[in-house]
Amino acid sequence: MKKKGNINVTSENIFPIIKQFLYSDHEIFLRELVSNAIDATQKMKTLKTIGELNADIKKLRVEVILDKADKTITIRDNGIGMTAEELDKYINQIAFSGAEEFVNKYKDADAKNSIIGHFGLGFYSAFMVAKEVEIITKSQKKNSNAVKWTCDGSPNFTMEETKKKTKGTDVVLHIADDSTEFLEESRITTILNKYCKFLPVEIKFGTKTEKIDDPKGKKDDKGEVIKIDKVSDNIINNTSPAWTKTPSNLNDEHYKSFYRELYPMEFSEPLFHIHLNVDFPFNLTGILYFPKLKNNLEVQKNKINLYSNQVFITDNVENIVPEFLTLLHGVIDSPDIPLNVSRSYLQADGNVKKIASHITKKVADKLGRMFKKDRKDFEQKWDDVKVFIEYGMLTEQKFFDKAQSFSLYKNTESTYYTFSEFTEKIKESQKNKDGKTVILYTNDSKEQHSFVQTAKDKGYEVLELGGPLISHLISKLEADNSDIQFARVDSDVIDKLIEKEESTISKLSDKEQEKLKTMIEKEVEKEKFTVQIQNMSSTESPIVITQSEFMRRMKEQQQLSGGGGMQMFGSMPESYNLAINSNHDLIGKILNEKTKKKRTNLINQLLDLALLSQGMLKGEGLTTFISRSVNLIK
Ligand code: ADP
Repeated sequence: MKKKGNINVTSENIFPIIKQFLYSDHEIFLRELVSNAIDATQKMKTLKTIGELNADIKKLRVEVILDKADKTITIRDNGIGMTAEELDKYINQIAFSGAEEFVNKYKDADAKNSIIGHFGLGFYSAFMVAKEVEIITKSQKKNSNAVKWTCDGSPNFTMEETKKKTKGTDVVLHIADDSTEFLEESRITTILNKYCKFLPVEIKFGTKTEKIDDPKGKKDDKGEVIKIDKVSDNIINNTSPAWTKTPSNLNDEHYKSFYRELYPMEFSEPLFHIHLNVDFPFNLTGILYFPKLKNNLEVQKNKINLYSNQVFITDNVENIVPEFLTLLHGVIDSPDIPLNVSRSYLQADGNVKKIASHITKKVADKLGRMFKKDRKDFEQKWDDVKVFIEYGMLTEQKFFDKAQSFSLYKNTESTYYTFSEFTEKIKESQKNKDGKTVILYTNDSKEQHSFVQTAKDKGYEVLELGGPLISHLISKLEADNSDIQFARVDSDVIDKLIEKEESTISKLSDKEQEKLKTMIEKEVEKEKFTVQIQNMSSTESPIVITQSEFMRRMKEQQQLSGGGGMQMFGSMPESYNLAINSNHDLIGKILNEKTKKKRTNLINQLLDLALLSQGMLKGEGLTTFISRSVNLIK
């Protein structure tokens, strides 16, 4: 008996609309249909408990079968199936009203951009890619007949009794002419890999490739060997991924191999992981990995995959986890994250906020525990995780507060300190006459070697602070600690960097100093170098080139903003200070040289040496310096 019906529609045909709205996301039809199939198999257990099912549950399985010749994709399950009444209720009425509601909701022009991966469109998403859909289903309930439902995308459907050997459901999609990309095996493999890789029931993907002779040699009436479909198939999913397991049952190797499963193209190993397991006030499981970070932060984002009950939803977790955590890799699975809402709604959602702050706390706690448990090991990992931690410290105050106890600062001898350990150590020795403790740092200990050396000779500690975020972190630490000041070693001569009460007296009189200043100024570019006579120790270099902390930060910011607003004034000219050590013997000698020629020679030789030590002597200047040096030796 064939039943014809009309899906209760208000708009004449919702399917073209569905198709149009979800243009970029057509591929999710497969996720929706496979999820339904999985649900149907999972419901077998329920059926058994309520006594609707007497037989033992067979091995549950979902199959996706691609038939290129027939231009169909079949999603097959051996789940609970549907009776005719159920099919009418769930597909004709409930599923349809869901689809219609969806269409009404998102009719707005650009709403489709704001829809996160999952829309609850469910079964009807099949019409995004199919011109006709069949459901052939047989309920597990006793004495059920098989039913076949067909719909060609118009509001009309047919339902009739049919024959089906096995219990469960086949959904057959007759792929539309504009969607033939989904008849490509590689495309389906990619989609299954993306959305279904960790679903809890075994999924087999089979492709009917060609007709071959029956292997048992069966013959038809005419005595010809029967041709059968050659099907190549394989299991595409891991039904119990690591994050669903109890952490105590997993070791380091398990976590590493799961990482490789998640990112087959990633070659470096993660540094460590955090297994999340929350059931109150929301449900959330997951594993977050700390990758080895490279300096370019942007390329490493969006590696966390969001799942809902093992169904992949999206890899765009913006607004769900705090910005700095998007540098981590891994999986978050939560049925409590609302998936069918816009991003701005998601951001305001109370549950999502709690999830974000909970994850932040978990990450901070884990780092704190690692630091306490094995500080040496933590120190070894520090250089790789510091960008991540600094990023978190700069963007999340709560994380900053917790990170104070484990974020590290390395000195030039590769000794690691926490901030409080370090400031405690240098508090007295590096206090200047205004009572501020000066933290000396270098961002390149090779290039700034002579400055580092001078500071160390004075008994000062120098920190190695580098990386893309450090200048921001320095500003924050200075703002939070008014008695602390940072100074890069090459931003002034050492006695100015940490200015003490007792000052070194000069061997030269004021008049001599004035004379010396004029002599040197004659030999240098005035716009580029500011000459200052300084009373330094006689063992320091005769001339030291520095660039003020202020000028350098200005320049760095200009570079960071890509020229930006300052560009209209032209880029900032290079400017340096020339500190002339009035107590150095050779500086004294300048004043006593007999001839002008000898004097300028000496000044230029000393200037060139200072430039050389900064790597600033190049080209013609270098050539002149070398020939002058050769002459001096002669
Ligand atoms: P949802 O899955 O969100 O409930 P769908 O439109 O995808 O919405 O499906 C509607 C209903 O149809 C399901 O709730 C289920 O009862 C029934 N259904 C869909 N697919 C199957 C299937 N493969 N086996 C049994 N029942 C199914």
